[in-house]
Amino acid sequence: MTVRVRFAPSPTGKLHIGSVRTVVFNWLFARKMSGRFILRIEDTDRTRYHPESLVSIFDGLRWLGLDWDEGPGLEELQKAGLQDAARYAVGGPYGPYIQSNRLHLYRAVAEELVAQGWAYRCHCTPERLAQLRAEQRARKETPMYDRHCRNLPPGAISPDEPHVIRLKVPLTGQTVVHDVVRGDAVFENAQIDDQVLLKSDGFPTYHLAVVVDDHLMEITHIIRADEWFPSTPKHVLLYQALGWETPVYCHVPLVLGTDGKKLSKRHGATSIAEFRAQGYLPDALLNFLALLGWAPGEGEEQEIFSREELIARFDLFRVNRAPATFSYDKLDWMNGVYIRSLSAEALLERLLPFWQQAGLVPDPCPEGERTRLLKIVPLVRERLRRLNEVVEWTDFMFREIEPVPAERLIGDKMTPQESLIALQRVRELLASIEPFEGEAMEQPLRALAQELGLKAGQLFGIIRWATSGKQVSPPLFGSLEAIGRERVLARLEAAEQTLATLLR
Ligand code: GLU
Repeated sequence: MTVRVRFAPSPTGKLHIGSVRTVVFNWLFARKMSGRFILRIEDTDRTRYHPESLVSIFDGLRWLGLDWDEGPGLEELQKAGLQDAARYAVGGPYGPYIQSNRLHLYRAVAEELVAQGWAYRCHCTPERLAQLRAEQRARKETPMYDRHCRNLPPGAISPDEPHVIRLKVPLTGQTVVHDVVRGDAVFENAQIDDQVLLKSDGFPTYHLAVVVDDHLMEITHIIRADEWFPSTPKHVLLYQALGWETPVYCHVPLVLGTDGKKLSKRHGATSIAEFRAQGYLPDALLNFLALLGWAPGEGEEQEIFSREELIARFDLFRVNRAPATFSYDKLDWMNGVYIRSLSAEALLERLLPFWQQAGLVPDPCPEGERTRLLKIVPLVRERLRRLNEVVEWTDFMFREIEPVPAERLIGDKMTPQESLIALQRVRELLASIEPFEGEAMEQPLRALAQELGLKAGQLFGIIRWATSGKQVSPPLFGSLEAIGRERVLARLEAAEQTLATLLR
């Protein structure tokens, strides 16, 4: 048996990080089992359909390297109005992969269910249903269809009049759902609603479409979010009615914030595009997501796993039942580990777009500038947790700084006068030092501190403030080199003038 799994997003908004974690489990399982990972678009809820959402799904998965083996092909994507259809087209033998192109299949199955007595036509008006719900709520009952049309004589509702098709759920007995994560769950049929399968506009509901597609696409394992678990008995009943084999269910736990609430905007970034824009590396994010609700082994301490290791070790049966906690701090830590593992060249490639977006580096980047940037990279490498932080760490190396307030220029336990003299001496020293390189500066500046009777930290603190406008910056000498002699001297002079006004 070839393992076939799928991600079946509804294109209604941005790709959420929780959904991506579900994709990661599907993808790792497919790769581990040498199976197929299928991308199917569930767009039957036309009122909530957003075409841009398709692009955000495709781009997000591609960026993370979660490639799909089958999915919408060129024609389908062109029909969906996608600008760059060829870029995302994959296709496959089980198409179409966009549900709105499969309506005839759902209709045929719904009619077959009616013919076999597993479903019935219902022409209750929306008004009647609304009133029914209101009455049930008033009686504090769970709203459920009262099966009014189920008992009409066969043929009472003509296929030509407006109607929906509903599942005829057995009135007694139980439906059992087997789930890899949750174990067996037993549902009383009497509690299951006679679910609408086909709407009056001819569109299927999610419940019908998902079952028909998973069957026709020969999906073997359904790995999806826990929120769909309550719907599963309806699906199992449909499989039984149609005489189809049920796939293996695996409902993966919710992703919560550290406060125990469902992960949302309040906690931080939630869409994959935001994580990308903040400078998380795809491999780091994949590593982090894989460990949200899954662990490779009891007492396993290792947390950094390459893509290959994750594939080799992933085990669907070890997915945790308890909700997973999403810690941004941990993700930042992990991202830092991945950042530090990159070579200077590779990290430069990653950082370049962030510098360019902030307008600090021209696009395209001239060769000479590249050489300079390659020297800056090691200065920040240890400090970065996200790539976008590079802008704040290094902006003073690229553009003019705001005038530094006088009180910042007075060294620790120093008078304004002493500070002014110290800065003057630093400026003289740096004006003539050759070459103007970080390594050449350290010894002379330390010697100068000693000569002035200062601790190195006292002197370096005011140089840092004067030249970067910050209390904390990357290593001082490398930073001075990156700023460049002319700018350093000008900033020191400006600082001296500021201090001089205090002394007047
Ligand atoms: N279209 C559903 C969603 O957006 C898919 C649920 C499923 O995987 O069965 O989550």
